[in-house]
Order: sequence, then structure tokens, then C-alpha cells
Amino acid sequence: MAATAPITQDVLTLPRKVAADESGRVNLVGLTRPQMQQALLDAGTPEHQAKMRTGQLWQWIYEKGVRDFAAMTNLAKPYRALLEERFAITLPEVVERHLSSDGTRKYLVRIAGGHEVETVYIPEEGRGTLCISSQVGCTLTCSFCHTGTQRLVRNLTAAEIVGQIMLARDDLGEWPAPGRNPKDETRLLSNIVLMGMGEPLYNFESVRDAMKIAMDPEGISLSRRRITLSTSGVVPEIARTAEEIGCLLAVSFHATTDEVRDRLVPINRKWNIAALLEALRAYPKLSNSERITFEYVMLKDVNDSDDDARRLIELIRGIPAKINLIPFNEWPGAPYQRSSNNRIRAFADIIHKAGYASPIRTPRGEDIMAACGQLKSESERARKPRRAVGEAPQA
Ligand code: SAH
Ligand code: SF4
Repeated sequence: MAATAPITQDVLTLPRKVAADESGRVNLVGLTRPQMQQALLDAGTPEHQAKMRTGQLWQWIYEKGVRDFAAMTNLAKPYRALLEERFAITLPEVVERHLSSDGTRKYLVRIAGGHEVETVYIPEEGRGTLCISSQVGCTLTCSFCHTGTQRLVRNLTAAEIVGQIMLARDDLGEWPAPGRNPKDETRLLSNIVLMGMGEPLYNFESVRDAMKIAMDPEGISLSRRRITLSTSGVVPEIARTAEEIGCLLAVSFHATTDEVRDRLVPINRKWNIAALLEALRAYPKLSNSERITFEYVMLKDVNDSDDDARRLIELIRGIPAKINLIPFNEWPGAPYQRSSNNRIRAFADIIHKAGYASPIRTPRGEDIMAACGQLKSESERARKPRRAVGEAPQA
């Protein structure tokens, strides 16, 4: 239960900055290389220089973490002045930072229009994972998910998505020091999961562009094997994810019959288990043979029986897979309970014996409501009454 961890949260309210684009300058963050090149041309950069200038800016912004044009010493001074006049390098604003007793950090991030999303950094042995959001709220209404109780406000832009990676690196102090190899894989922020707020495949283009930027070898330079996109099952976009992003795929499976999945993950009424499995079967080959992670939230007496475990094995037969069992993370007013540890272990055992890896995900950051499925922006919590299930007021 979420409330058992000691509460040692440190809420840091950061000073608010004025958004640079109020002056009409174009934000360079989030532009793809061709878009940046075009923007530079539009600002009067000579045609024969535009590609090189894009490369230089790219390295300053994404490899070195520089935000000030004046510091870009390999560009001529008048050109730096032109850039300053026409462009900005702006990240979404961190308005709160919560630190869990287990080291997890949750950022409340404000984006244009005053909306808020959450980003979570999870430190692990020898690596660190950043869980990023792709939408403010979610249009889907999975009945066990806190985000699903918040109506969708809007899709995030590519700048707001890649900006979450950049602001976390700022907070971790992880822009390379001079002479340090930026591709060093012992980084604090070594992995990305698109498992925050929102359904990434309902915001495909922005997610794709942001991930391309994160993967670019001259910048943040994360391997596509270190990025995992989690979808609730937007079947028509799965092949496109393999072709246009090529990252690892996780799928919120959660049930072994359509009857139960319809209730837990309502998108199943549109694309059922059979349709989903067909798309998943094709994914590893299309994306160059990586295995798929099947996420399975353990809900007491709902989807956690031995029969469920056996059905799951039957369903996924032939798909290279890992099954990630997620103990349900409770939130105020949630209509489900977490399966007991014994039940989870028995379920994991059946899967394991069938030859699949079946790690049980350790909930992280529960004391700051940062665990999977608990994200929901403070502003929404404070302002909106709940729609369906009654929710106890937040402290
Ligand atoms: N919208 C995407 C990604 C965000 S959710 C998706 O649904 O896949 C990330 C993962 O957390 C999903 O597997 C989701 O089903 C799971 N999740 C949601 N609420 C949860 C909760 N309360 N406890 C445990 N896992 C939850
Ligand atoms: Fe949206 Fe994913 Fe939550 Fe479902 S589990 S409501 S798709 S964020």
C-alpha cells in the first residue's frame, strides 16, 4: 500500500521564468534537423552554411546543454547576435521537484498554456531511467490508472517531450564536462521509458520527433535499445513505431480474455486481444528483432489467477517476450487492490517455468505518488472534481 513508505519528500518550488517565445522567437528545441535547417535558412543563413550551422547548434544544445547563444564560441559574433534575435532555446519549466526516500525524483513540469505534466527519474544500480509524459492527461480511461481519470488537455509538442530529458539532465548535473565522453554509457540518465502521462501512440509525430532527437548520435545520443515506448494497444500505429522510431515496445496487456481487458483497458473494445497480438507478432522483425515487454498489472481477484497465467503463456506463444508484472499502485479512490505478494510470486512462477523472464516491478517513489499509473498533475487534482469514482481529497 502506497502510504507505508516513510514520507521524506522535499518539495522545492523553483522560481518561474518568463517564456522566451513571448517575444516571437522560434524555439530551436524540438525541431528535427531538417526543420532546424529550414528555420536557419528562413532567418537568413546562407544556403551553403545552413547544414553546418545546424550541426553546430545541435551539438551546443543537445550534446553540451548550452542555452545561451553568446556561449557558442565557434560561431561568429554577428551570427550569434542574429540567432539571439530570432531564436530561443527554451525548456518547459520545472515548478516543483519531489524527492522520494528511495531516491526517485518527480518533477512537476509546466508547459505553455499553464498545463502541467509529471516526469519521473528513477535511479537504479549502474543506470537511471527517466519516465516521460507524452500528453497532458489521457483520452483513454483505463479503470486502474490515475491518469485515466484526468481528461485530456492536449498533446505535448516535441519540444516539451525532449525538454523533459533536458531538464532532468540539468537537475542531475549531467551535461558533459569538457573532455568527458558524452557517449559514456555509465550515465545517470541512461534509459527512457514513455510510461508517464498519456498514450504516446495518440501523439505519434511529436513522440517520434522527440525520440529521434534523443537518439541522434551528435546529441543526447541514447541508443534506440534504451528507449521503451509503452502503449495501451493502438494497433494501427504499432508497425509505424517499428519503422519510424525503432525503439523497444512495451504493451499494457493486463488481461487474458477480451471480457476482462474490455473493462481494464477500454481501447480493447476497438482493437481486441487477437488484433493486438497480430500487430505485436510483426513488431520484433520490423524493428530488428527485439523482444516485447508485456506489462501486466496485478489486480487482486481480477486478473491474477493461475488460469490467467496459463492463458497468457498460450496467447503470446511465438512472440519473443518478457513479462513485467506490476503490483498495482494504489491511489486515493482506486477501485482495485494489489494482489498479494504470494499470488504475484505464484503467477510469476508459472510464467517463468514456461521459459519467459517474469520480473516483478518494484514500485518506486510511492511516497511521492510517482509510481507507475499514479501520475496526475497537481493542478488537475486541485481543480477538478473526479468524474467517475469518488476520490478522497489530496493533502
Ligand atoms: N499510456 C501508456 C503509457 C503510460 S502507463 C500505456 O498505457 O501503456 C505506463 C504503465 O503503467 C502501463 O502499463 C499502465 O497500464 C501501467 N499502470 C497504469 N496505472 C497503474 C497503476 N495504478 N498501478 C500499476 N501500473 C499502472
Ligand atoms: Fe492512458 Fe496508459 Fe493510463 Fe490507460 S494506462 S489511461 S492509456 S495513461
